[in-house]
Amino acid sequence: MIPFLDLKKINCDIKSQLIQAASDEIQSGYYIGGPSLSNFEEKWAEYCNSSFCVGVGNGLDALKLSLLALGIGEDDEVIVPGHTFIATWLAVSQCGATPVPVDIRLDTFNLDPDQILSSITSRTKAVIPVHLYGLPCDMDKINNIALAFNLYVIADSAQAHGALYKNSSIDNFSYASAWSFYPGKNLGCLGDGGAITTNDGDFASKLKSLGNYGSLKKYVHIDLGCNSRLDPIQAAFLACKLQYLNAHLRIRNSVAREYSKTLKTLNIPIQLIPPNCKHAYHLFVCLVNDRDKALNLLLQNRIQCLVHYPILPSKQKIYRNEYSQYFLPNAEYVSKHCLSLPIGPHLNSIQVAHICDTILRLNLLPPDPLS
Ligand SMILES: *Cc1c(COP(=O)(O)O)cnc(C)c1O
Repeated sequence: MIPFLDLKKINCDIKSQLIQAASDEIQSGYYIGGPSLSNFEEKWAEYCNSSFCVGVGNGLDALKLSLLALGIGEDDEVIVPGHTFIATWLAVSQCGATPVPVDIRLDTFNLDPDQILSSITSRTKAVIPVHLYGLPCDMDKINNIALAFNLYVIADSAQAHGALYKNSSIDNFSYASAWSFYPGKNLGCLGDGGAITTNDGDFASKLKSLGNYGSLKKYVHIDLGCNSRLDPIQAAFLACKLQYLNAHLRIRNSVAREYSKTLKTLNIPIQLIPPNCKHAYHLFVCLVNDRDKALNLLLQNRIQCLVHYPILPSKQKIYRNEYSQYFLPNAEYVSKHCLSLPIGPHLNSIQVAHICDTILRLNLLPPDPLS
């Protein structure tokens, strides 16, 4: 079986370095905070070309704390894409604010900037573009709108480690970026982890306080904070794994190149990559007719595929009553037909060739166009 992802292989390839990092952490005597946390925060800020990085417990908290640090809460609205992982919406709801969905584009599968305007009200405070599957959003258009309406742009970059926009880090195009280091992400810990990068020092120290009981000085509490910190042992693992991120991105891109060539011959839609974007290929997603059948056929050929994501946030139990009026045809179309092929540094070229041959042999069909 070709697994969708093989984290055991990816981490065991550098097992001795990870063991050394863990051993150093045990020896250090710091188990919260300390030098390996600040070391990774510095390295990640540098990689992202940002001035500040604040480690937090996970990607959801990275989004939620960013909104809280900006004072976003009850009576506020935040623009989110109709098709994304549920965390983007939950972060807004958990602040007491309202997620306002905007449909995605059918070519890039990303937030459609041309549909944002009609969703802005006097309560809109921020927009969360999600660089979905690793493809940067149309940040120029989004930033122009944000500037005109005085909105904060908080990017959900949880799938976009290493993505580039206009040849520089996507982080340069938002007020802040929320990162997840969940094990399966392009840069993942051996547990939960997250971070926020930004150029605003006051915002960064607010985040630090919010994730640390509202405190920057022991027993002095200035904010209604929570406990959401990046463990130093995870930070040490991340610093270790960061050395391989660019090599892994190159593998992801070469796998994606092979898939793209193959799918083109079958006219199967994939994300359109605008010329000013470099895709980080956290996921490789195509649109197929009769997805369940395609998934089964691929499985019978020993290829494990997944779906990201089969149910829109607005159709989930927690949201579906409130959002029954929202019509998000493109988001619905993509979530109905999307299929994710295996991608990552665990794959070798023989496996990728087998997957391409199988796709051709199965003669998978594109979905009927959205009428
Ligand atoms: C993974 C992910 C998150 C949440 O990250 P966690 O670390 O699991 O909390 C948020 N948004 C998107 C788009 C993600 O893929």
